Amino acid sequence: MDQQTQARIASLSDQLHQHNYRYHVLNDPIVSDAEYDRLFRELTELETANPQLALADSPTQRVGSDLSLDFPKAPHPAPILSLANAFDAADLANWEERNLRLLPADTELAYVLQPKLDGLAIVITYENGVLVRAATRGNGELGDDVTANVKTIRSVPLRIPVDRAAAAAPARLVVRGEILFHKESFLELNREQEAQGLPAYVNARNTASGSLKQKDSRETAKRKLTAYIYAIVDSDGAEMSSEWETLQFLRVMGFNVIPEARHCAGLDEVIQTLPDWEARRNALDFEIDGLVLKVDQLALADELGVVGKDPRGAVAYKFPAEEASTKLVGITIGVGRTGKVTPTAQLEPVFIGGVTVSNASLHNYEQVSALDIRLGDRVVVKRSGDVIPYVIGPVTGARDGSESPILPPAACPFCGRELIQPAGAVDWFCSNPKCPERVMRTLEFFVSRGAMDIEGMGPQTIAALIDNGLIEDEADIFNLSAENLLALEGFADKKVENLLQSIERAKSRSFTQVLTSLGIDGIGATVAGLLGDNFASIPELLATAQAIRAAEEDFAEAARPLVDGADDGDPDIGKLLHRLRHPTAELAPRYLDAADLSPRLERLLRPLRLAPGDIAPIQAPLSALIAVSRPLHEIEGLGPILVENIVNFFADPHQQAVIAKMEAAAVNMRAEEKVLASAGLAGQTFVLTGTMSVPRGEIKSLVEANGGKVTGSVSKKTSYVVAGDSPGSKVEKALKSGVPVISESELRALIPG
Ligand SMILES: [Zn+2]
Repeated sequence: MDQQTQARIASLSDQLHQHNYRYHVLNDPIVSDAEYDRLFRELTELETANPQLALADSPTQRVGSDLSLDFPKAPHPAPILSLANAFDAADLANWEERNLRLLPADTELAYVLQPKLDGLAIVITYENGVLVRAATRGNGELGDDVTANVKTIRSVPLRIPVDRAAAAAPARLVVRGEILFHKESFLELNREQEAQGLPAYVNARNTASGSLKQKDSRETAKRKLTAYIYAIVDSDGAEMSSEWETLQFLRVMGFNVIPEARHCAGLDEVIQTLPDWEARRNALDFEIDGLVLKVDQLALADELGVVGKDPRGAVAYKFPAEEASTKLVGITIGVGRTGKVTPTAQLEPVFIGGVTVSNASLHNYEQVSALDIRLGDRVVVKRSGDVIPYVIGPVTGARDGSESPILPPAACPFCGRELIQPAGAVDWFCSNPKCPERVMRTLEFFVSRGAMDIEGMGPQTIAALIDNGLIEDEADIFNLSAENLLALEGFADKKVENLLQSIERAKSRSFTQVLTSLGIDGIGATVAGLLGDNFASIPELLATAQAIRAAEEDFAEAARPLVDGADDGDPDIGKLLHRLRHPTAELAPRYLDAADLSPRLERLLRPLRLAPGDIAPIQAPLSALIAVSRPLHEIEGLGPILVENIVNFFADPHQQAVIAKMEAAAVNMRAEEKVLASAGLAGQTFVLTGTMSVPRGEIKSLVEANGGKVTGSVSKKTSYVVAGDSPGSKVEKALKSGVPVISESELRALIPG
């Protein structure tokens, strides 16, 4: 028995050390917090029952570390402690009982209850009211000095008190808080990623941590991080008697203190509020994984002291897990409308957060291989809010050698065509546009609510229409007759009439909906809306895309002598060839503002060691490509990869035929005429840079509502550059090219009324 226990303790220690390292140093955890807590608790219990077996280097004996090599180290004035965990009301009651035993009889404990933020701990030092240092928690005694980066976070005061009339600054104040993304900021960050054609971030906390640990603070400034402050670590001139008083003091100093914090007269009151917190959890602005409960009376908390690494006077109450581990028993393969192949994990059913989960997303094969997920693995699955459950990673310690690697299939399981992985892509695709699965998914998407919104056309109807040869593509929907539909099983007069009416209504959907329904890779409603602001109709967009494709072909022709025979194996040349092969995404946006292309091209093509005369032939085709693609590249919020996706989409003869059929069936192709608030900015083009008093999107709408145009880069056509706080290089560019730079208030002054 002892031997078995000893082996289990060793195995748990090993696993926890590994997970600690992945979490704190590599910033790449493979198990969920709940899973980690489970292992940690098992180890603690075994060690408590068998103290003689505890290892000297047991992970229970120290706090974790987030130290990295990139930053100087800053010592904390007092250890930054972690908290013991409680998982239910009984744990909380036991915790209080243990504490009361250490305190004088008749002591009554009051509590302060706050959400437990799922962010990155930070320790900030103020001397005479001025922020002098900010450090991560590190190993609890020593942190990474990230002062410059923290100063870019707007909710962190650089000087306290913010309202100098309200209070005086203590000589020295060291506070502790948490840095995180508000849910909305995280979504916005991912929308920007999407607009640039880049992969979305999955985990808000890891992204916050990565953002805070940028070597260049300008990178941190671009992310909209928020800081909440909740404790005083050390002070000279700010002595408090209770937690509640501390929070009020921090508020007066101008810190962002969680408004949801509350005072409870006793533990009963705390326990009564628990169900309410769990219910509100997903409605909060930020991710939380539980609550923090602190003894309100600081003198009593002090008396309780510290056990191991945890103060006795505080405890973390963890919500029921939204994560659990189970066995990965199989993989099903789906093919989407773009042909994208997605693997889904088939699981041994597991109960998570009140629901039985038996399959979960694996994202893509690249992710599967990066996480080394194998068939037969025990995997950790997360389910949170409305998000589709997904596999976080394998529990490698649970392997027995019977697991097998998961590889992409060689052929499409629906049509048998070979799968392709485009260069640089993480996904695999079925390349057959007539693949029955792709057609089905295309139609389902086409009729869905955000797209053409055709009521009464469910998957079964679509399948019946395809099976009966009545439709081959989405545009055929508009040519269906009552006679066609009556021939289908289960279709009677009333049902046919309703369906035909909703098809008729769909013909007058907005430009945004029609464009979205075409299913261009990466073009959702937001980007479709941007295109609608800049193009009068879908045929106009199509004509632009075709002109770009023609210019690309001319460029490719001219560049062929340079590309042929170049050494693809050399990484510098490989990168250059990639640019030459994707001129719309890779070259045109770089040179939009170039007055003279030839020196830029000479520099670009240097790795090819050409004779001077060899560059001239590609100069004119590139200028032509820049000219025709400019209307797309200048749309702020539309990244170069999306521009390339648009061009590729409209170059496809199948898509051209679909659009022509839709046009012939009188489906709306025109963008809405905008009703202007004024024409005060008509004919003027603005470039926005830096942080404004409201989100830049609102300033853009304001300019457009008054007849102006907003573009993403400074050119001869720019009327003004509007600079907010910490503006980018666009101001320099404006000054160099003589474009006037104005402030946000000067812009507002230009608008009549
Ligand atoms: Zn296929």
